[in-house]
Amino acid sequence: HLSKLPNIETTIFTVMSGLANKHQAINLSQGFPNFKSDQKLIDLVSKAMNSGYNQYALMPGNMELREAIAKKFDLLYGSSYHPDSEITITAGATQAIYDVISAFVRQDDEVIIFKPAYDCYEPSVRINGGKPVSIQLEAPNYQVILNEVKQKITAKTKMIIVNTPHNPSGTIFSEADMLQLQELTKNTNIIVLSDEVYEHIVFDGEKHQSVCLFPDLKSRSFITASFGKTFHNTGWKTGYCCGPKALMEEFRKIHQFNVFSVNHPVQKGLADYMQDPNTYLELSEFFQEKRDLFLSLIKDSRFKFKPSQGTYFQVLNYSEITQEYDVDYAKKLTIDYGLASIPLSVFNDNQLDNKVLRFCFAKTDDTLKKAAIVLNRL
Ligand code: PMP
Ligand code: GLN
Repeated sequence: HLSKLPNIETTIFTVMSGLANKHQAINLSQGFPNFKSDQKLIDLVSKAMNSGYNQYALMPGNMELREAIAKKFDLLYGSSYHPDSEITITAGATQAIYDVISAFVRQDDEVIIFKPAYDCYEPSVRINGGKPVSIQLEAPNYQVILNEVKQKITAKTKMIIVNTPHNPSGTIFSEADMLQLQELTKNTNIIVLSDEVYEHIVFDGEKHQSVCLFPDLKSRSFITASFGKTFHNTGWKTGYCCGPKALMEEFRKIHQFNVFSVNHPVQKGLADYMQDPNTYLELSEFFQEKRDLFLSLIKDSRFKFKPSQGTYFQVLNYSEITQEYDVDYAKKLTIDYGLASIPLSVFNDNQLDNKVLRFCFAKTDDTLKKAAIVLNRL
């Protein structure tokens, strides 16, 4: 057998965006904005290129950017990460996630993953010889039942991956959830990988519950994050990882041979841009308006939904319209109705199908209005 990942196919994001392009459909599938980054940020990156930031950055990343991130953690969460030893800049969150898993997961180690799950976790575990252990969250609330987690923890559990705000469901962890997670992993060597790429997109006045707010949990956790999600430039593929010094040392052993360092002018531009905290503090309000517009436009449709609590995704249940398999229905909507979305079953074990599609609302109001016209026809 040549393949190390025989069961892995092309990602649903590539499939659905490809289909949307082929059929010139409105693309609410793959998660990316269809509007520009702030011109000021683009100018700062150009300025960095023009003023000599064109050679390798330091292996863990541009120091000014690491300092800006440390300042953000202090400001938002009153939590300190040392820029020297506890923060590393990565090629998007995807690379950070891969490095965390590669640095710690050995043959036959178990990694607990909540389903539906973002698609890069499981292959990264498998390629390192680990065994993904799934916990299925039930639609429509996708509530984590920590008693179930307790039952899945064994002597081989090396890691638990959590993701709040959650892609694809748009749910968030509460403070009580985090306290329970802290309690469950207390006095264990389990590492928590907390994927917080949507930390700045939380709605209705709720607060993002970062692992760093819970000191004992923080002591065994990594946070992964993505500037693409925060500053509307997913194509720049820049993110970061933070974690306690001893864990970060291990992370960097992988990082330095995986990528060594990442795009330097982008890092310098981001560092200058983040000097103004409003650049990320206004994001929840910005996306809440988009969510509210989208939901008000489809309130009389036959789709059932609970408003997304965070991320820029809204899941819609179509069971009143048809009982078709969600992958087939998503393809049909793209090809016959000109609207692309993501079927949730691909993020579940055994293609568990709850008749739910995910729609990305990081789009101009005009695009959302056009999409709503289609949804109201169904
Ligand atoms: N985790 C989650 C939950 C995501 O939604 C994404 C991107 N959509 C990533 C990780 C990867 O982020 P990046 O594009 O920075 O690699
Ligand atoms: N994270 C984005 C999403 O959930 C897509 C990332 C990708 O295309 N791999 O849609």
